[in-house]
Amino acid sequence: MTAKLIGSTTLELLRGDLTQQDVDAIVNAANSSLLGGGGVDGAIHRAGGPQILEECRAIRARQGCLDVGRAVITSGGRLKARHVIHTVGPVYHRAAGQAPRQLAQCYQRSLDLAAEHGLRTVAFPSISTGAYGYPVADAARVAVHHVKAWIEQHPGALDRVRLVQFSAADHASYRTALGELK
Ligand code: ADP
Repeated sequence: MTAKLIGSTTLELLRGDLTQQDVDAIVNAANSSLLGGGGVDGAIHRAGGPQILEECRAIRARQGCLDVGRAVITSGGRLKARHVIHTVGPVYHRAAGQAPRQLAQCYQRSLDLAAEHGLRTVAFPSISTGAYGYPVADAARVAVHHVKAWIEQHPGALDRVRLVQFSAADHASYRTALGELK
């Protein structure tokens, strides 16, 4: 575990399984259908049970597909986390020059939603760096930079933001990015 204290909020990196995190909310790297998929999305629905998908279906029936960079919240079903925040990262090769801005929005809007719901601890996966093809070193820089900026702009709003990487190689990229932060 590597961590940095920003005001009273801890920004930390962990190599592990997002679905096992004991936090107020975990963030899902969802697709715009909100109907489940592979990767971390599939793992969350498998671990959390059918309730999460039912709530996603209801959101979709109300408001349609979720645009890239947006976020919605459901309960956490059987997960340790009480909530799941679902956000849609950019597909790297489709987003062209928009990818960094869109990825930053995923982090910002997910953190906004957590704070609006009075949550104190949030854990993220490495959004867009699996099936969506975002180079992990670049995505890690976007993630740590914009999470840090959000924390600085919302002092005391959250106790802890944890960025969780599944692989050792991804974890190393995030550690490098965190080390580069001023
Ligand atoms: P995207 O479609 O946004 O690229 P993916 O789910 O394909 O999302 O991958 C995002 C990242 O999540 C990848 O780095 C993948 O290794 C990681 N991942 C997959 N399962 C888990 C898990 N259970 N916990 C944490 N990270 C996971």
